[in-house]
Amino acid sequence: MFIRKSFLLISSFIALAFVFILYNQESTPYVQKQDTLKVVTSFTILRDFAEKITHGLTHIEIKSIVPPEADPHSYQPIPLDSKILFEANIIFINGLDFEKGIEKMIQSSGFKGNVYKATQNVKVRPDLIDPHTWHDVQNAILYVKELRNAFCTEDPKHQDIYLKNAAELIKSLENLDLWIKNEFKKIPIQKRIVVTTHDAFWYFGKAYDIQFLSPVGISTEAEASAQNVAKLINFINENNIKAVFVENLANSKLIEQIAGETKRSLQGTLYADSLSDPNGPAPDFVSMLKHNVHTICKAFE
Ligand SMILES: [Zn+2]
Repeated sequence: MFIRKSFLLISSFIALAFVFILYNQESTPYVQKQDTLKVVTSFTILRDFAEKITHGLTHIEIKSIVPPEADPHSYQPIPLDSKILFEANIIFINGLDFEKGIEKMIQSSGFKGNVYKATQNVKVRPDLIDPHTWHDVQNAILYVKELRNAFCTEDPKHQDIYLKNAAELIKSLENLDLWIKNEFKKIPIQKRIVVTTHDAFWYFGKAYDIQFLSPVGISTEAEASAQNVAKLINFINENNIKAVFVENLANSKLIEQIAGETKRSLQGTLYADSLSDPNGPAPDFVSMLKHNVHTICKAFE
């Protein structure tokens, strides 16, 4: 009798211990692997730069909150984003009010690391807050320097690789900048007027001497006034402008209507605020700018 009682007691104890272990296993919070550096970028252009600067390192994991072909202006963070931000070691954002929703979510996620702003040292547009600074390749180079310095600070052990990769990337961006300037040299300055969906190309226009016009403002969420649309239609007709484009993200209805009323055909798609999927025409920053330049130059022919 005594043995049976003891046996029951011991079995119950073992069963309880198992339940305790299982319960604790399930409720153990996510423990970060010491050897992985988790990098989160707000949008795909920063993801591309981060990938190129960290090329060849296997301990880096990079995620972009806004996916390819999605609009960062109107992006609504989802609960999974909060988890990704909380678990990050470094976060890169553009700044200049580009990703307000994500900035709010970083604050509420409990993230304890450093948030780096890519536009930190960029000379900004004087008349209004315009976040689309990357379209001037010289600004994109400042982005790369900002990210490179951040990686060297956060992970000094691999500094040599960050410096080497960033130097290569900066060289390819310097070449891109020269190439764009040469491409546009072929087009007379008075012909270089482009109409597109939203005001995303001020920095591009200033860097490469092209005038961009759009019916809506800085954000794809802005509404065009009837007066602005009428003015733009008159301008297109009076100046015989052919270069009318849609963008990969913004709603194209209004620009299609303008093209219809001015009897222009749309000359293609420009990539403004997000890269394309890997199989699309703009899977990284260099190919995005090359695609835009080819598309614009073709319309000027
Ligand atoms: Zn935009």
